[in-house]
Amino acid sequence: MTVADDSAPSLWAATAAPPPEAPRLEGETRVDVAVIGGGYTGLSAALHLAEAGAKVAVLEAREPGWGASGRNGGQVIPGLKYDPDELAVRMGPVAGERLAVAAGGSADLVFDLVHRHAIECEAERSGWIHACHSPVALRRAERRAAQWQRRGVAIRGLDRKGIAELLGTSEYVGGVLDPRGGKLQPLSYARGLARAAIALGARLHARSPARSLTRTGRDWRVATDAGALLAAKVILATNAYTDDLWPGLKRSVFPLQSLQIATAPLGENVRRSILPKGHVVSDTRRLLLYFRQDGRGRLIVGGRGTAGERILGRHVAYVERAMRRLFPQVAGAPSEFVWAGHVAVTIDQLPHLHDLAPGVVAALGYNGRGVAMATLLGKLAAERALKGAAADTPFPVTALRPVPLHALRLPFMAAVMQYYRLRDTLDVRFG
Ligand SMILES: Cc1cc2nc3c(=O)[nH]c(=O)nc-3n(C[C@H](O)[C@H](O)[C@H](O)COP(=O)(O)OP(=O)(O)OC[C@H]3O[C@@H](n4cnc5c(N)ncnc54)[C@H](O)[C@@H]3O)c2cc1C
Repeated sequence: MTVADDSAPSLWAATAAPPPEAPRLEGETRVDVAVIGGGYTGLSAALHLAEAGAKVAVLEAREPGWGASGRNGGQVIPGLKYDPDELAVRMGPVAGERLAVAAGGSADLVFDLVHRHAIECEAERSGWIHACHSPVALRRAERRAAQWQRRGVAIRGLDRKGIAELLGTSEYVGGVLDPRGGKLQPLSYARGLARAAIALGARLHARSPARSLTRTGRDWRVATDAGALLAAKVILATNAYTDDLWPGLKRSVFPLQSLQIATAPLGENVRRSILPKGHVVSDTRRLLLYFRQDGRGRLIVGGRGTAGERILGRHVAYVERAMRRLFPQVAGAPSEFVWAGHVAVTIDQLPHLHDLAPGVVAALGYNGRGVAMATLLGKLAAERALKGAAADTPFPVTALRPVPLHALRLPFMAAVMQYYRLRDTLDVRFG
């Protein structure tokens, strides 16, 4: 088994399409928009900007897709953590409905980009199952399904027997099947977005961390170790890997580790007994488990890791135990890969779009559901950079709010995770 630290190669790195050409930035270049961060947010922004005819360059500290975009579960999940009706209550009926519709359409955007740009990333619109660990969670999921059905989405409820058949485990009391969702190879998708953006004229610079962002006359100057971009507009797309480039941005999210285990390819019979229709699944636990197969019949199971940087053995053991409990049929299959990355959690559990200063936009905080949402927010950030406040943005553009006492996040989050683990256990034991 390959046990990795946070920057070591994942299953996805071992099986991805080759990376695009992305030379380090050298010298000074003028562009219309400078994008900082080469994950889905930044690459989607660059692609949409290039499509609109803007001169755009992306600076990525490591390699495109190095962050969460190259390491995630590859589950394309539409919508936000809030129900559509909850959004209406939170934001008012018109704004809430717009937001729900935009977020609900985020998976369409992903599959459309894959199709339009012929991105080879094993994409399949196989459907996403939200699996419920308790009767209370099931009632909530059913309410949400009813709300989407009223909006014309063919989402459907699954009883205990129905979900057991589709998952190959009897762990769950029921769930809902959302046909808008699906799966892809996450790093191949990131690299495909990058390649599509480059084909439309965008420049992509790997190994080019932005070290400073300063105003010089009418432009912003983004300096790297060996060069600089001069641009009227800047998009910050650094999510959980946000550093101190923009004051306070790092303190507006909590980076939290999520880790995954992949087995060796399973034998044909075992493979067919798990997720036989190719669905991807995440469950309703507060510390959720999520799982799928890849194109070679490996089972991949993910769960929450630590609040810090390293992969800890006890977290790996927890996910490994969960995998063997859910699917005892994989007992004979060794785990071949363990890897992790960081998700960016926000206090309000919504992604954040900020106008940080005239011409500077930031999009981040996907709360572990960013394959579709970061792709969408990248597009919206691009529109915002091009049109400013005149852009028709269905997401709220909020003020930057650094979280007070952020420096104490590690003990705070460790305590919250212990509490969540206990609540999840009690839910399962006592319903
Ligand atoms: C283990 C794991 C599993 C997940 N599973 C799922 C899933 O199944 N479905 C789902 O919807 N979501 C999932 N997510 C969440 C999803 O992957 C993220 O929300 C999404 O990838 C965020 O994309 P991003 O482009 O905003 O950030 P990232 O992909 O993290 O990219 C940010 C980039 O910014 C770069 N950077 C930082 N600072 C600088 C700087 N100063 N200069 C230049 N570059 C910089 C970093 O190197 C990094 O590459 C998962 C996340 C993890 C970690």
